[in-house]
Amino acid sequence: MSGDPVLDLAGVTKVYGEQPPVHALREVSFSVGRGELVAIVGPSGSGKSTLLHIMGTLERPSSGVVRIGGVDAARLNDRELSLLRAREIGFVFQQFFLAEHATVRENVADGLLYAGVPAAERYRRADEALDRVGLADRARFKPTKLSGGQRQRVAIARALVGRPAIVLADEPTGNLDSATGASIMGLIRELNAGGATIVMITHDVALAERLPRRIRLLDGEVVVDSDRDRTGVKEPAR
Ligand code: ADP
Repeated sequence: MSGDPVLDLAGVTKVYGEQPPVHALREVSFSVGRGELVAIVGPSGSGKSTLLHIMGTLERPSSGVVRIGGVDAARLNDRELSLLRAREIGFVFQQFFLAEHATVRENVADGLLYAGVPAAERYRRADEALDRVGLADRARFKPTKLSGGQRQRVAIARALVGRPAIVLADEPTGNLDSATGASIMGLIRELNAGGATIVMITHDVALAERLPRRIRLLDGEVVVDSDRDRTGVKEPAR
């Protein structure tokens, strides 16, 4: 890996509540290098969403260290953390989360709102991002006029428009039929081939098997990391 990893977790633990405490994550450690495409898999309740929130600095861990581009997130105050998030991390969610009253172009341009980019430049870059996801001709539409797959493409364009160091996707195909899901996966692979670093949560084992690296969670622990060089956790023999 050249330079710092884009994302580095060391001994990350997350405990919710006290009576009794729920260990959502236990001593999770792994790094993601520039240009990787990683699937986080595991059954419901295994800690995937908690991990995504902590990787995205939306939540702080109970203990352990989260570094984004070499910066220890715990050393930043809330304002600095939002800025880091706005600049370095793009989010894609299962439910798209698009503003329905705004056009597709405005939705994508809003991905740059907190990065201090002037409006004209926001729209220019939004058009560029829409072109990358194959929706250049839908810029003036409202999201309500689009199919589910097209809405997810808009959400992906919004995540990419700020050229983040890493894109975190939470079940990006979870709300789509299998053909549409496959086309979104095709887009994710294409963006990764173009250089984007992407970590995606999925409970679809078959889909994850086709990705270059898989990290499997069980009861909040990493039980498999197919990239054994990076963590020392070995994939079990089959
Ligand atoms: P997954 O995304 O794999 O389904 P989660 O990260 O949502 O798993 O949950 C992991 C564990 O942490 C579960 O036992 C869940 O009930 C618990 N948990 C998650 N969020 C909270 C919370 N805000 N408060 C209390 N427990 C939580």
